[in-house]
Amino acid sequence: MGGIFIPEEGRFLFLFLLTAGLSLFYFTALFGRIWCGWTCPQTVFTEFFDGIGRLILGDKYGKKDAAKSKVALVHFLWIVVSFAGAFSWVAYFASPHEMLAEFADGTWLADQSWPWFTAFFTLTLYGDMAFVREQFCKYACPYARFQTVLMDTHSVNVSYDFRRGEPRRNKQEKIGDCTACNMCVVVCPTGIDIRNGVQVSCIACAKCVDACSKQMGKEKKESLVRYMTHFQIENRGAPVKWVRPRTVVYSILMLVVLSTTFVLLQSRVPLQLGMLPDRNIPPMNISGNVVRNFYILGIQNMSPREQEFIVSVKAPDISSGVRLLIGEDGIVKLPGNSRKEMRVIMEAGDLTPEVRKKKDHFVELKVQNKSDASLFKTRLVPFIIPEG
Ligand code: SF4
Ligand code: SF4
Repeated sequence: MGGIFIPEEGRFLFLFLLTAGLSLFYFTALFGRIWCGWTCPQTVFTEFFDGIGRLILGDKYGKKDAAKSKVALVHFLWIVVSFAGAFSWVAYFASPHEMLAEFADGTWLADQSWPWFTAFFTLTLYGDMAFVREQFCKYACPYARFQTVLMDTHSVNVSYDFRRGEPRRNKQEKIGDCTACNMCVVVCPTGIDIRNGVQVSCIACAKCVDACSKQMGKEKKESLVRYMTHFQIENRGAPVKWVRPRTVVYSILMLVVLSTTFVLLQSRVPLQLGMLPDRNIPPMNISGNVVRNFYILGIQNMSPREQEFIVSVKAPDISSGVRLLIGEDGIVKLPGNSRKEMRVIMEAGDLTPEVRKKKDHFVELKVQNKSDASLFKTRLVPFIIPEG
């Protein structure tokens, strides 16, 4: 969203992951595997790739007697889309402008990294979408393993209304509403039978809901497979119980995490600061009772816009004061999202015997935005007075 965050601000990544984890718990408690069916990239990509397949092959998509040339075209388009996806992913880490320029002038093969990563992710995405698909959800996804413990009898799930459906009909008898047409099983991408209850392999894609709606529609009846809670199946007409101990606890935790994130973001200063003694030049006495210390000062502008900074120092226990020899008037100008390191000298003169006696002093370094005085950061840096 236009913000620039640096590795030292890992707490925001932690808070983001915590919010993501808590929302997964919260929404699973309310709506079952809504993540799997509606937002998981695996499902969304599969749906998108299936859309391409249906566009080219129509009703023949997924059937063995589909024209070979059209199937080849589908796979070609899948590879093109996989390449676009892989390129976008790699562009999070390398400049897309540079990659495209290298591609245009033919120097891209000389580059050792991005073409290989793009090729790798293209093959991964294509292989996943063309061959693995829902098998990933069934056998590899860790979320599928523990989602059952996040739900209870009041979670809204794709469920089969066994009260109405059972016992299933057969040719001789018409007992329950389920016609045993098996359409809900035929359309299921993970090959399960929803009539056996909520299962780990169900990805809540709702294809069985559509299939049963069509079947029950012939009898002008409501679908036997719908979004409902187990409690509602057993107590027909009961409303969904949204407020429950677990949903309340998750809401409170999310509120705490989100407000902490908000406060931290509001008080965030888009500036990173560091000043370390220059190990190559030790502190030294120079003529006229003056001491000089040498440092490497690093300033990072974490805003997308250019900023001008005023750099100043303050040393309460050095009565004669200290001054920083840096640029013009202590002003440092930095373009947006850039970092600058510079050698700086700090100097103190007219030192009294008391100040000289205490060899280690601390100086407060302050870097402040020139146009907005409320944006600043400070650091304590050592100032050493050598013997002599
Ligand atoms: S078709 Fe029904 S049972 Fe199968 S994965 Fe989708 S929602 Fe679950
Ligand atoms: S689609 Fe509906 S009617 Fe057909 S078998 Fe499944 S639950 Fe029964």
